[in-house]
Amino acid sequence: MESWDYMGCEGVFKLRKLRVCSLVLLLILAFLCFSCAQIVDIQKGLSFSDEDEIREAEKAAKMFEMEKSLEGKLYVDPFLEEYISGIGQKIAEIAKKDRPIIPFYTFKIVHDPHINAFTFGGGYIYVTSGLIATLDNEAQLAYILSHEIAHVSKAHIKEGVKARAAMLGALNLAYIASSFLVPGLARLGELTRMVFIYTALAAVNGHGRKQESEADRVGIEYAFRSGYDPREIPKVFELILKTYGDPPPLEQFFYSNHPTNRKRLEETERIVETEYLERLGGRELRVNKESYQKRTWKVVRDVAILNYESKRYGTAKALLKKALRIEPNDAISHYYLATVYRETGGSNEELDIAIAEYKKAIESKPDFGDAYFGLGLAYYRKGLKKEAKEAFENYLRLNPDAEERGEIERQFNQQ
Ligand SMILES: [Zn+2]
Repeated sequence: MESWDYMGCEGVFKLRKLRVCSLVLLLILAFLCFSCAQIVDIQKGLSFSDEDEIREAEKAAKMFEMEKSLEGKLYVDPFLEEYISGIGQKIAEIAKKDRPIIPFYTFKIVHDPHINAFTFGGGYIYVTSGLIATLDNEAQLAYILSHEIAHVSKAHIKEGVKARAAMLGALNLAYIASSFLVPGLARLGELTRMVFIYTALAAVNGHGRKQESEADRVGIEYAFRSGYDPREIPKVFELILKTYGDPPPLEQFFYSNHPTNRKRLEETERIVETEYLERLGGRELRVNKESYQKRTWKVVRDVAILNYESKRYGTAKALLKKALRIEPNDAISHYYLATVYRETGGSNEELDIAIAEYKKAIESKPDFGDAYFGLGLAYYRKGLKKEAKEAFENYLRLNPDAEERGEIERQFNQQ
């Protein structure tokens, strides 16, 4: 079995070019580099130790977080971080027995619509907001964190870096990538770059079949021993396989129809049925759906907005509806749902939905100027000039300096 870590690397690591390059191309590039005095000291990679992993993962994580923070792509919400970290630390307590040298684990959220999770090793673990928004409950998130923790506790990163060091090409990749793909990498030392590039590639392709299979199994065990219902685990893959009719982003173009997720669904289902139902013995373990949804609904909405901005309207719509099921009076969710219907739907029916949703947004937030503007546009498209005029007037009342004033007044004074 392969990773589910590959599910959205392009967005998180900006390695689209690497993704398009096949391994063969990478090897050719590596050989080209062979002649340009940029040969990496392979010995350093071959003798990559626990201490190296802990030290270099910290540097790679710092650089990554600094870049994401500058781009505004770390999801900053102290309560949510506390919640996710709380779940992760419980699991880490169990994992520490498998690899006591890892001093601590940290868990951070990257604001990115792709569904992904990954680790630099050394205890530094990341999940995307797109993943959090897709999941339904705490047991499912606990499994994802368990899977990533297992990559650390089973030393997959350390072993992976060593294995790649043995392949001369992958090491030189660190130079190639640092020069034209990830500018920040150029500032890092050789070993840190190795860790960074190893992680970026693992986030695309997984850590290797054997390691992914082990992380799946160990992840189920960690989640179970942390008190989470293992029957939720196969559902993670069901959720990932679900699509909302949008043209898939690049990495899903390669992988959404890939048999891997379906295979992993079947395999985790088999493991849970044959090994865990008996151990469960009729006990009710934690699922925590309601509390998970209460704590994450804003992430669902914010990821919906990212999808809207990148014109993935089907996914945006599905997530906005999910956010509204949890928080029915959220003005911003109503506003964006209305806007998706107005912009993508041409029929009267769709415009009626848009109008109803704008009205709900205004009901929840009476000074929501943009909602009046959207409402005006929706009425205008339906040919309801009087209603449109009233909505635009409300918009101008709330935004006296709006730059659309002249255009709106011209439109309606001609009538
Ligand atoms: Zn994995």
